[in-house]
Amino acid sequence: MNALTGSGRARPGTGIKVTTPHMGNLHLLLEDLFGRLGVEYIKPPLSSTKTLQIGVKHSPEFACLPLKINLGNFIQALEKGANTIAMAGGHGPCRFGYYGIVEERILRDLGYDFRFVMLEPFGDGPWTFYKTFESLAPGLSIPSLWKILKVSFAKGRAIDRLGRRSLQVRAYEVNRGDTTRALKEAEKILAQAGTTEEIREAEAAAVAVIEGVEQDPERDVLKVGIVGEFFLLLEPFSNFDLEEALGHMGVYLERCVWVTDWIAPRKDNKIFGYPKKLIEEKAAPFLSQNVGGEGRETIGNTVMFAERGFDGVIQLLPFGCMPENIASSILPKVQQVHDIPVQTLAFDEQTGKAGMVTRVEAFMDLLWARRNGRLISVPRRGKKPEAACGGCQRAGTA
Ligand code: SF4
Repeated sequence: MNALTGSGRARPGTGIKVTTPHMGNLHLLLEDLFGRLGVEYIKPPLSSTKTLQIGVKHSPEFACLPLKINLGNFIQALEKGANTIAMAGGHGPCRFGYYGIVEERILRDLGYDFRFVMLEPFGDGPWTFYKTFESLAPGLSIPSLWKILKVSFAKGRAIDRLGRRSLQVRAYEVNRGDTTRALKEAEKILAQAGTTEEIREAEAAAVAVIEGVEQDPERDVLKVGIVGEFFLLLEPFSNFDLEEALGHMGVYLERCVWVTDWIAPRKDNKIFGYPKKLIEEKAAPFLSQNVGGEGRETIGNTVMFAERGFDGVIQLLPFGCMPENIASSILPKVQQVHDIPVQTLAFDEQTGKAGMVTRVEAFMDLLWARRNGRLISVPRRGKKPEAACGGCQRAGTA
């Protein structure tokens, strides 16, 4: 059965056309979920320069980059006919909890007419969670919602596993671009799966497509961990598709935020593989408090990548992001204690791709220099790296 037919027939007469912001492959999971709920889903056009321009035009200048991109998504979706916006809520020390409220106010001031639905975290109570979905799909029973969520989430998990594997395969691909093409094909295979059994079978076929990419197992690759703010990590448009660029440089990547890990209430991080509690323990000697967003996780994950023998870590953050700025002020200590180079990259609407690529290439030079024994210490901010030879001084940009 195609997930978007059968149980996914639109509920007659509701007229609800729901949209959500983009965040990486989240729309694949949501297309499946809303299809099963029988709710018409208006997917905004994929985030682009135009989306950002629209968002920037109507956002406060000091707002974080994700809010601006979200706003652009909403306006593009409303122009496509959406009449209901569903947005994740939240609470904690960072600004994310206010996103929905601010975005709704801006859109109403612009004259848009829509219904705004805040999807509060499951931890706020199962009844509130159920009533939110029931307001989108009137008549939906609790058992039906539970069943639908389980199946769609299983598909989301499978999509994330494919994405995770593709980050590794890309480092060894023989023909540039094969992994990206294979991932798209694999995601299409999964999109067609309806039942849990079909999802299992589709995942096996999709994995075969990814593993079928011609690879050079002898290639010497760098191992780099990606840490930082969740939206910057998940949405390729916001980071100039950094993961693909690194993969094409022959870098084996592990990213520590995945869509289904991020939305799963238990925070057991099944895709990344290390539960939140363990990450917090690793961060504790440097940062023992929750500072919002992924600030504490950024520290803990950097420690873990160092302990696992990774060559380096890249931290991504929106310019002005409070939790990640706290983390980046602590990271020099982490890199000193654990002897691992860390490159911090901040993004806003003024950031250019060329500058980002140059910094990343310089960082890779530094990692190769360390790997080949030409650098004997991690360079600290404002200091030249201690070099075993004079040839790699230019790499000291971390
Ligand atoms: S984590 Fe950072 S970028 Fe994301 S909402 Fe919070 S302050 Fe903004």
